[in-house]
Amino acid sequence: MKNENNWGFDTNAIRAGEYRDPATGAHNTPIYQTATFSFETSEDLTHAFKNYDDPNGPNLYTREGNPTIDMLQDKMSVLQGTESSLAMSSGMATVAAAVRLCAKSGDHVIVTDKLFVISRNFFVEECPEMGIEVTFIDMLDLDSVRSAIKPNTKALFAETITNPQMCVVDLTGLKEIASDHDLSFIVDNTYLGPYLLRPVEYGADLILDSATKYLSGHGDAVGGILCGSEEHIAKARSTMSSFGQCISPFNAWLILRGIRTLPLRMDRHSKNALALANMLKKHEKVDWIRYAGIPESHQTQLIENQFPKGCGGMLSFNIKGDPNNLHQFMNALKMVDMATSLGDVYTLAAARVDYGLIRVSVGCEDEKDILNDFSQALDAVQI
Ligand SMILES: *Cc1c(COP(=O)(O)O)cnc(C)c1O
Repeated sequence: MKNENNWGFDTNAIRAGEYRDPATGAHNTPIYQTATFSFETSEDLTHAFKNYDDPNGPNLYTREGNPTIDMLQDKMSVLQGTESSLAMSSGMATVAAAVRLCAKSGDHVIVTDKLFVISRNFFVEECPEMGIEVTFIDMLDLDSVRSAIKPNTKALFAETITNPQMCVVDLTGLKEIASDHDLSFIVDNTYLGPYLLRPVEYGADLILDSATKYLSGHGDAVGGILCGSEEHIAKARSTMSSFGQCISPFNAWLILRGIRTLPLRMDRHSKNALALANMLKKHEKVDWIRYAGIPESHQTQLIENQFPKGCGGMLSFNIKGDPNNLHQFMNALKMVDMATSLGDVYTLAAARVDYGLIRVSVGCEDEKDILNDFSQALDAVQI
């Protein structure tokens, strides 16, 4: 879908894809909470059956399409700058869909070795069962990405900021490799969302977001959005129907509502995370801290170029001494919630003793309240 009005990103976050309800004039987008749609004549129903997979055709059944879901998809296409998009039942559904679009049995894909853990499970457990060969590579090292390419390689799969280590990949460098070898370039942009980074500007062919995170922003719905060319998304839509991974109209509505405040929230997430990162960096009990907003020197230029509006709300850090100090710290938190997930207005933290770090999704509360809670919890740690 095109940005027909030539509006800026923030206006599109609020207005793109949405319209006054033609049936009732309702100003806010209705939740079309219906499984099926009924018709005036039998001929109309027959016509709808024939065109069931046409996104512009009549609504037939919510697995194939629904006006609330359509509005979410149209908004996301405008925000990502892609021809089309598909809302799905979760972020993981979009990971699987993106890989299936680019690789079939006998093909090979190259995947970042620093990866969201459930995505890793998908590549380790499910891809071999589908006959898809996978190589995990450190995508910070472009030479090793090049040397992993085989005659049957079909795609590169990267995360814009890797989970949970917070490494930033060079999207321009990866796209160059993908173009040289005619590979599809798949980008999981969950950690930033389209306000902070639009992977299409770096030549990504397929972009996926776990809408559960920043797009929804309130931790109240699970969903995912896959964005790409009309051709790719049409194929993904038909596969989704067979696998039954459609989103519910209510979740689509919650995510649609969340996206309207995405720019406001991302600015606050970035500001709060930068303040917390700077506080932790100076703290005597903190061993190291990683946040894209205070980059290691060799990445300064890359990060300035890729994230001009801010670096989002995700950071990780480690505490000096025994790994169990992480639990001491976590148990001393008073306001910050101990939970997995991210991109929520609430600040969430999770200790990953296996990685030797605490991952923080910095929320939108008052900066001073977040900093105070971290500070008092660090005070409680006995090193
Ligand atoms: C959460 C997450 C996913 C999966 O999304 P769900 O909506 O939880 O299925 C994929 N990639 C990244 C980077 C994530 O953080």
